[in-house]
Amino acid sequence: MLSYDQALAQILSAALPLPITDIPLLDARGLTLAADVVSPVFLPPFDNSAMDGYAVRFHDVAGATLDNPRRLPLAGLIAAGDAAPPSLPDGAALRIMTGAPLPPGADTVIPIEDTEIDGEQVAVRDPGAFGQFVRASGGDAAPGDTLLVRGSTVRPQEIAVAAALGLRTLPVYRRPRVAIISTGDELVEPGHALAFGQIYNSNACALAAQVAEAGGEVSVRRHARDTPDALRAAFDACASSDIILTSGGVSVGEFDYVKAVWAERGTLDFWQVAVRPGKPLAFGAWEGRRLFGLPGNPVASLVTFELFVRPALRVMMGMANPVRPTVTATLAEAVGHQTGRRSFLRGTVTPSEAGWVAHASARQGSHQLSALPHSNALLVVPEDVTMLPAGASITALLLG
Ligand code: AMP
Ligand code: MG
Repeated sequence: MLSYDQALAQILSAALPLPITDIPLLDARGLTLAADVVSPVFLPPFDNSAMDGYAVRFHDVAGATLDNPRRLPLAGLIAAGDAAPPSLPDGAALRIMTGAPLPPGADTVIPIEDTEIDGEQVAVRDPGAFGQFVRASGGDAAPGDTLLVRGSTVRPQEIAVAAALGLRTLPVYRRPRVAIISTGDELVEPGHALAFGQIYNSNACALAAQVAEAGGEVSVRRHARDTPDALRAAFDACASSDIILTSGGVSVGEFDYVKAVWAERGTLDFWQVAVRPGKPLAFGAWEGRRLFGLPGNPVASLVTFELFVRPALRVMMGMANPVRPTVTATLAEAVGHQTGRRSFLRGTVTPSEAGWVAHASARQGSHQLSALPHSNALLVVPEDVTMLPAGASITALLLG
């Protein structure tokens, strides 16, 4: 049986960044830039006014004071978007709006607050400084400047810059297409009535949410009954997916056909990892598609996705840090442990003056979902310990 570290290493080495695609700006949010973005233009593209006020030559208003204003004749008005601003006549002022192009001849903008209208003239009471409130062309960026760096995540900030450059798309690693196949004759979709012996299919919903949260795209969702033929049909519906996730049917039960049916198509790289929950995890390949055979128990499904599938998806999306961050915390209460597998306990970590404090949740069964919404971490108990006392240091994997 592989250890956690061996399984993760094998999965990550099999995960390669997906092809680079130009994706519309808004669809690229959360994805990773696959190339630097170099400015093709000057930003701003033209000298313009930073204020609503008057465009002037500074030497015409130098020395103005409240008691001794400089009066200049008004020669017209320039609005934002004016394609052909008039030149500034000698000794005159032009009314100008924020963002409007600076007229040829002007070098300074006097904000409206420092002026007063006096008939056909504007009285400037404070000249400010030479060049003030002019936003120079290229003052933000010039052609050839690298504005966005390969490897960074596309956030609203990056989208703002790209849009300001006039770009409609960004080069990113595309989202992995992930197929989800749930299995089990006992399962019923939420919203329908249950007969005795049935339970709701919670894994398919949880996995779809986890895929979306990790940045992937759910390409197919199928539920297969526990027969080889149903599984074959489900796998065949996944041909255009990068990753196929199955839920359940991967253990040693009489009706656990996932591994056998997968082996008719591709290879099984490994089955079983020494983790708790989630031991029956299977991993394989089918002509470039990757299979994760996730255990059926709901907590095991959710945790193995976190531990193994999410990091693979993130590598495929070109992300630098595929694994969730960890902190070292102090255990508040002792936890007992069965040796042989690395355990990932649902729990909480909270900051305190002495550092992080960890509490393991009470219900740790792999079918017991109720502690999950209150958990913000997976507490890592090493393979070889029989118990960790209160006060022991513990590694906590921070969940989103
Ligand atoms: P299996 O690995 O198929 O034997 O399933 C192990 C346990 O997980 C059984 O108790 C199943 O009923 C349960 N289980 C399997 N698939 C799901 C699912 N999609 N949603 C909720 N529980 C499931
Ligand atoms: Mg089953």
